[in-house]
Amino acid sequence: MGKQTTDFRYNTGATKVPWAAVGENYNTADLMEIIKFLMQGEGEEYDNAINAVWEQVKKLGEIATAPGKLSLASQVEAAEEACNDYLGTTTSTFVTNATSGFEIAYKYANLKEGDEVIVPAITFVATMAYPLAVGAKLVFADVDPLTINMDPKDVAKKITPKTKMIVPVHIGGYPVDLDPIMELARKNDIIVLEDAAHAFGAMYNGRKVGTIGDFAAFSFHEVKNITSFGEGGIATTNVEGFGPEMKRARFLGMDFSQPIKNWLYNITPIPGKEKPFVAANYSTTEIQGLGLKLQIARNEEIIATRRKAAERLNNRLAANDAIICQDLGNDKIKPTFHLYLLQIDPAKAGGDVQTLKKKLEEKGVTNIPHFGPLYRFKVVSDMGYDADEIAKTCPVCEEVFNKRFTHLPLYGLSDEQLDYMADAILESVAEMQAGK
Ligand SMILES: *Cc1c(COP(=O)(O)O)cnc(C)c1O
Repeated sequence: MGKQTTDFRYNTGATKVPWAAVGENYNTADLMEIIKFLMQGEGEEYDNAINAVWEQVKKLGEIATAPGKLSLASQVEAAEEACNDYLGTTTSTFVTNATSGFEIAYKYANLKEGDEVIVPAITFVATMAYPLAVGAKLVFADVDPLTINMDPKDVAKKITPKTKMIVPVHIGGYPVDLDPIMELARKNDIIVLEDAAHAFGAMYNGRKVGTIGDFAAFSFHEVKNITSFGEGGIATTNVEGFGPEMKRARFLGMDFSQPIKNWLYNITPIPGKEKPFVAANYSTTEIQGLGLKLQIARNEEIIATRRKAAERLNNRLAANDAIICQDLGNDKIKPTFHLYLLQIDPAKAGGDVQTLKKKLEEKGVTNIPHFGPLYRFKVVSDMGYDADEIAKTCPVCEEVFNKRFTHLPLYGLSDEQLDYMADAILESVAEMQAGK
């Protein structure tokens, strides 16, 4: 396959000698391997289909042109536009993953040793990786017992003059109660970074989650509701004028607006809240961009399917009042149903969730061990944190984690599988109540 004549990255127009030394292009055999990877199978029927495709791909290879660019070009832009349309923002920036989106926000805030960041006690490690790495102090907010999201009332208690950021995480795609958090942040000059990894499409009081804080990042890792071929994230910002800067923060601070003498571009620092900072490289590929754009178009349908599955489970589980069902939201709060949050009341269930989890496992129902108290991890204690002391400041987290909740899958399951899961839960709780 030939390359287009436009030079790599810099649109220098048609040339007799293009900038060709930019890496080997893929060929038809490579493409065929990608198709075989994405569409796996075996047996005669599969082999016949693959051979037929190979013949056609070879033919296509003789007449088709390559896209020219494979990184940060029109497909990435199209995905960002689709995100902007969907979210009602203008700043969507497609980055390698949500974690790198968080880093841009943390760098904007000039987060460093001595600063404090309030994160929820229960989340995924990605939320706190950067603060921990730069030696900022993590302050763990206790969680709301029903949603297991950061509890704004506890956040209010944990703010100090050193608090630089608050990081609400919309766990399982259920929106954090953001109004009180934003109010606290405004009053105390604190930057809010929404970890919206699970919450692409969730609504809070009529607004899309991830467009309310100063910064946010969504994840399109393969385990999230939609994916850009395995990895990817969208970062957004409400900081006045920072949208274009965020795009430069994604790619090494490249600046075409004020080139140095005799050259095409400049490298300029990214303006931060306190001081400018040096950009890193979180660039994404055109194939990821294409994948994201296609999946965004299906997002509402996916949320609706997930919602139906949650409703189906709730309808079944209502039969036992020891079971606390997933909150389905209301007119103002619309979750994405990334996971089903199953809780039990240990007093009524005759045991805690650890027993229930074991019983479910015995019945062949998976439970997802993703989210626990971050302060229990070795990387945190080795950085000088005392887990037991922190636990005393997060009593609800301790209670819900050890006794009350687990996450269940919701998507890609048949009605039969959902019913099997509901029956397994009902049977298990009934066994516990009978002292078995
Ligand atoms: C997955 C996840 C992230 C990280 O997303 P990546 O795109 O993999 O970086 C952050 N926070 C939470 C709560 C997550 O589950």
